[in-house]
Amino acid sequence: MPDHLMPGFVWSCARCAATFPPGGVTYTCPRCGDGRLGMALSPASAASARVRTDVPTMWRYADLLPLADSPEVRRVATALPVGWTPLHAVPRLGAETGVADLWLKNDAANPTGALKDRASSLVVAAALVRGEQVVATASSGNAAASLAGVAAATGITCVTFVPTGTPPAKIAQLSVLGARVVVVSGSYEDAVALCWSACVEWGWYCRSTGVNPFTAEGKKTVALEICEQLGWSVPDAVVVPVGDGNIITGVHRGFADALAAGWISRLPRLIGVQAAGASVLAEAWRTGEDAPVVVPGRGAGTIADGIAVADPQDALRALAAVRTTGGTMTTVTEEEILVAVHRTSATTGVFPEPSSATAVAALPALLADGHLAAGERVVLINTGSGLKAVDRVAGAGTPVLRCAPSLRELSSVLGVGVRSPLPGNEQGSGLLPGSRTG
Ligand SMILES: *Cc1c(COP(=O)(O)O)cnc(C)c1O
Ligand SMILES: [Zn+2]
Repeated sequence: MPDHLMPGFVWSCARCAATFPPGGVTYTCPRCGDGRLGMALSPASAASARVRTDVPTMWRYADLLPLADSPEVRRVATALPVGWTPLHAVPRLGAETGVADLWLKNDAANPTGALKDRASSLVVAAALVRGEQVVATASSGNAAASLAGVAAATGITCVTFVPTGTPPAKIAQLSVLGARVVVVSGSYEDAVALCWSACVEWGWYCRSTGVNPFTAEGKKTVALEICEQLGWSVPDAVVVPVGDGNIITGVHRGFADALAAGWISRLPRLIGVQAAGASVLAEAWRTGEDAPVVVPGRGAGTIADGIAVADPQDALRALAAVRTTGGTMTTVTEEEILVAVHRTSATTGVFPEPSSATAVAALPALLADGHLAAGERVVLINTGSGLKAVDRVAGAGTPVLRCAPSLRELSSVLGVGVRSPLPGNEQGSGLLPGSRTG
């Protein structure tokens, strides 16, 4: 099938670095066998790229995206606007964590509530350009919901594979969005394998994170937006939750392309954070390996379902992103994640899902061990909404009080005295101010 890559783009292998011209390759490198394909943009094409400042979506960077303009691309770009999410300073969270110049890129403001919409938008555009009939993905929930959302808006058929244990809100979202929802009895890796087999068997187009080369290209727009929203200045560090490693790869691609375009003058340090129970990339980083050691049968154990990955799909590029930018990788505990969900929400007004909160959870240790300095400008990415994982965070916030509709009982529940007596104010009907006429 033709792939209609934008002029200036070539396919490049994450393992052996071979490059291939447009056409003929889809997911993996034909030279070394199983290397994941990525994309590279020629310096000349990058240098002539312009921002479409009148487009308030990720497609304002269409010049740096790998699909040439076409009716199909325009259809996807307008059917469900994705990206151009808010970036704002979070001084109260900064004061609590000791990073004074702290910023939050709120990608939960995307249509399905997660950063993964950026990938799905580009993948569905590629699917329409290729004339695909069905798109499919494995997912811990957000990738599937994002694919289902873009599919719903464009009308392409969508099949999703999620593991048992996926938060109910994410499954409900998939179901109302009209996707075929298959809950696979097994892990995320089992869902990835089954989705791949189904795609091979029935000729579906596979969006699975890190498997489809367009995913990281879509996600790179988050980095381009950060640069533009900071007035084309670059933060000192960006802290990114890591599961498959595709987001951090995309973030690296975005900053690298902005540098090649001459829009920025240096790269920020990329800091990857994993849950301690799903940390093969952080482990590889610690031991200095180029690739993670995946122990068969060792699963992923964390409430942060979005990063509960035992065998990362984009491992090589993720580690390279950290290495090339002078960053680091670290892990956080389940306890630290829950505390960070509450702390972030209660100081910013933005409720992150546990996967996103790992970035906040990591800040104290990063400061303590010198990977961050207190005066540095640091950007966090809110990769997904906490409303999609409320089952994971019960008890993490302030206590929930239960009370009969009685001011007297409320005073005792709150532990606050009342001016007694409280005539006529005992039972429900009179509680709204001004509601009594007699
Ligand atoms: C998918 C996801 C991540 C991790 O992205 P990877 O590409 O798998 O590293 C982080 N946070 C949320 C909310 C996600 O859905
Ligand atoms: Zn290769």
